[in-house]
Formats: sequence, C-alpha cells, structure tokens
Amino acid sequence: MDNIPMLIGSRIRLYRQAKKISLSELSERIHKSKSTLSKYENGEISMDVETLFDVAKVMNLRNTLSCTGCRYCADRCPQELDIPQIVDRYNKKLYTGKLDLSGIREEKLPASCIGCGNCEAACPQKIKICQMMEELSKV
Ligand code: SF4
Ligand code: SF4
Repeated sequence: MDNIPMLIGSRIRLYRQAKKISLSELSERIHKSKSTLSKYENGEISMDVETLFDVAKVMNLRNTLSCTGCRYCADRCPQELDIPQIVDRYNKKLYTGKLDLSGIREEKLPASCIGCGNCEAACPQKIKICQMMEELSKV
C-alpha cells in the first residue's frame, strides 16, 4: 500500500513551491513550526484534517485577487459593471468552490464584458480583470 503521509506531503511541497510559498510563510500562516511542516512534507508524520484544511486555505488565498474596492475600474467601465463586486464573488468561489452571482442583473453579469481593458488600465492592483470576466462568463 502507498505511504499516504509521504504522498500527501510531497504533493503539498510541490504545490507550495509552484505557488512560491516559502516554508516560513506557510509556517506563520498555519501556526505550525517549520520543522513540523518539513516532517509533514517528508511524510515523517501524518497531517490531521484540520491542518490539511488550513494548508488548502493558504494555497487558495494565494490565488485570490487583491482588490481594495477603490472602484477606479468601475468608474471607467462602459458596460457599468460592478467590477469590485464581481471580484469579490470570484474570490469567494475560491473558498466555496461555487460561483454565486445572485443579485447581479443579467446585463451586468461578467458575460457583458466587452474586453475593452479600461478597467485594467485603471487598476492600481494590476488585477487581470478581463481574464477574470472571461473565466466567469464560461461558468
Ligand atoms: S474590460 Fe470589461 S469589465 Fe473592464 S472596463 Fe471593459 S467592459 Fe468593463
Ligand atoms: S480598480 Fe482594481 S483594486 Fe480598485 S476596485 Fe477595481 S479591481 Fe479592485
């Protein structure tokens, strides 16, 4: 039978490195020592479900869009899309796995984006808004 702790540990290491999350950063975020994390990644000890969940949260967090809600983008959108609200729903999807666009009128959904790029030019956070809209309009 496969060594499950080793399999899980090696996947976590691969994923962590691919996302450029250092051992120190992960250690700080999930409140475990670096030496414990190394033991998890080497398969020397098994990871409990709660810790696994915390690790998954940190990995997902790295993908969230760092919107500050300044609304510079929305002010320049010819389609008058509520971009920060859509970014928020996108980020929530990363946690829940489900996209919830309830409460957004049909003509203001991501599919109405025409890809003009005005929003991205205005965004101080350099968020790839067009890409996000395209992704969401396919869901
Ligand atoms: S790219 Fe889409 S979301 Fe951005 S300003 Fe243009 S229409 Fe609005
Ligand atoms: S400009 Fe960028 S940071 Fe500001 S609300 Fe729009 S997406 Fe968010």
